[in-house]
Amino acid sequence: MMELRKEYDLICVGTGIMSATLALLVKQLKPDLNVLIVERLNQVE
Ligand SMILES: Cc1cc2nc3c(=O)[nH]c(=O)nc-3n(C[C@H](O)[C@H](O)[C@H](O)COP(=O)(O)OP(=O)(O)OC[C@H]3O[C@@H](n4cnc5c(N)ncnc54)[C@H](O)[C@@H]3O)c2cc1C
Repeated sequence: MMELRKEYDLICVGTGIMSATLALLVKQLKPDLNVLIVERLNQVE
């Protein structure tokens, strides 16, 4: 399991299309940024 950091540059809430697209774009533009996506459900939207 991935170890959680204490700080992130961006936290996206939910694994819907908007959150997933934003996280992907940000990582493509700024690969060094630490991005976390959190989801309330046990599965990807
Ligand atoms: C029945 C139905 C059919 C549809 N059909 C179409 C279609 O044919 N074509 C089309 O273009 N659009 C369709 N839509 C609309 C489309 O699904 C939405 O516009 C789109 O999914 C919105 O994306 P989103 O990323 O904003 O939110 P969502 O896809 O709703 O994702 C939000 C995510 O955030 C999570 N979340 C919410 N609150 C929290 C929280 N507090 N903490 C953590 N996670 C959280 C949710 O569990 C979810 O995974 C349909 C919608 C529905 C309901």
